[in-house]
Amino acid sequence: MEPFTYDVRATRVVFAPGSVGQIGDEIRRLDCSRALVLTTPEQKNLGERVLASLVEVGCGIFAKAQMHTPTGVTQEAVEFAHSVNADCLVAIGGGSTIGLGKAISLRTGLKQIAVSTTYAGSEMTPILGETENGVKKTIRSPKVLPQTVLYDVGLTMTLPALMSVVSGMNAIAHAVEALYAKDSNPIVSLMAEEGIRALAHSLPRLVSDPLEMVARSDAQYGAWLCGTCLGAVGMALHHKVCHVLGGTFDLPHAETHTVILPHALAYNAASCPQALVRIERALGQSDAPSALYALGKGLGAPMALRDLGMPESGLATATALILKDSYWNPRPLEEDAIFNMLSRAWHGQPPTRV
Ligand code: NAD
Repeated sequence: MEPFTYDVRATRVVFAPGSVGQIGDEIRRLDCSRALVLTTPEQKNLGERVLASLVEVGCGIFAKAQMHTPTGVTQEAVEFAHSVNADCLVAIGGGSTIGLGKAISLRTGLKQIAVSTTYAGSEMTPILGETENGVKKTIRSPKVLPQTVLYDVGLTMTLPALMSVVSGMNAIAHAVEALYAKDSNPIVSLMAEEGIRALAHSLPRLVSDPLEMVARSDAQYGAWLCGTCLGAVGMALHHKVCHVLGGTFDLPHAETHTVILPHALAYNAASCPQALVRIERALGQSDAPSALYALGKGLGAPMALRDLGMPESGLATATALILKDSYWNPRPLEEDAIFNMLSRAWHGQPPTRV
């Protein structure tokens, strides 16, 4: 056994079908009585239904959450929270809505209940990425970690199959990098392996029948585990590449993770043999990078950066940005190999270990 540090952060997790009906009790459990519901314009109806169910403990809805948490939207939301005298937040949605809750909480200290409706995992992390003047900055602070997280499978039934696939691959990426993290530990590795297993086996079932409740529930369970891994240990090359590509070329978040994951793992494969064994055991297949590529492709996900809108001329810029202020990685970053890896990902070719 290698030496390790296990640093537990406390979030109350309620994982149960129908738990959306329990939000009022959870608000009272936090000694709060005026919850502001947050969501996106697309999920406003859901937010309004939840607000109506809160009866005496809801005070309003702010349905303007956006991808990458622009600070202008956060400022407007903070003013709205003050105007309705909110004493806590209920963020219902994916990473964008939960990011808004974190950003408001950072500025106001309001407690948060996060009700996750995708598999991105933000609800389990003390991480917040915010955008100002087109620049995305990421902080890690216990101040942004939600006090309570609710997982109600019923809220994920409307997530379209393809969005479920890319969101699930986004979650798997957290667990893959947790298995070779600099600060990995045995508990997180157990969660990572189980999270990959749960998602890799449920996503195909979910695609063949998007209304299959058991597959949806297994996927959500995997997403919880993978999100916990992201919150607990540091990430490496894969997350750095996605951060650069998303920020520089405005590429869609979950899709970018789906395209990059097989290539980033192939780049690192020879430097993380133990992680590879666990990933392959979780997938039930040999050659983890190829298996992840086949999983995404087989489920209809886009597998090429060019299909996400990245110009080929951006490959050199991206390589330079990835090498600048790079994260720790099990394999040193080599300019030519990174460029080649990106180039294969741009064309949508299968991953190779170079
Ligand atoms: P999202 O929150 O941007 O959601 C995408 C769209 O899907 C939105 O319109 C949303 O309203 C809709 N949607 C969400 N759930 C739905 C459902 N069940 N049914 C129908 N529509 C639904 O997508 P995301 O991938 O969850 O989040 C991406 C954002 O989260 C990015 O900004 C990313 O940086 C951030 N993120 C942050 C962390 C973190 O730890 N800080 C982790 C993962 C992602």
